[in-house]
Amino acid sequence: MKKETEENFGQGHLTDATLLEFLEKCDADLAEDYRQRGCAHCGGTLHRANYPRKPRGPATGQSVFWRHSFCCEKEGCRKRTTPASVRFLGRRVYLSFVVLLVAAMRHGLGLKRVRVLREHLQIDRRTLERWRKWWLEGFVQSAFWKQARAQFMPALCQHSLPCSLCEAFKINRRDRLLDLLKFLRPLTISALLF
Ligand SMILES: [Zn+2]
Repeated sequence: MKKETEENFGQGHLTDATLLEFLEKCDADLAEDYRQRGCAHCGGTLHRANYPRKPRGPATGQSVFWRHSFCCEKEGCRKRTTPASVRFLGRRVYLSFVVLLVAAMRHGLGLKRVRVLREHLQIDRRTLERWRKWWLEGFVQSAFWKQARAQFMPALCQHSLPCSLCEAFKINRRDRLLDLLKFLRPLTISALLF
């Protein structure tokens, strides 16, 4: 029983070497949808203008990852469109699933095990506390959450976020983790995180 509970925190995902590749494909598909829709301001054709990111997380190494982004080709508009992402949370350095899962474990696992995990992922204590504070305050206060929380019945415990979200989505399965990351996508382009 204990094992099942722990799996709901999704630790397995942090050691899944293929997860990032999987999420990259999801982001590429999402970006293609945006591209096909054209510029939201003028309907013009969108050109790729991806920008490089060096996110931290398991198995990222020194690799450069690309945040999908587009620019409108129409003279006088030229607006940039950056699709929401299942990998990046605003300008945060760490991958979104790391910010989610490690903060959830901070709530659900013993301190000693959290420390081992934190050290393994090279996340300092202050960073993790900042994430936790963001989930409990910034996230809870966000316009996104104020609207989205109504869809949870029974209501989610806001004091155990993001753990309660992980449990509600049953994220031990990868497709369910993806559902949760998709659910959180509006936040990935939100100014709240900057
Ligand atoms: Zn345009």
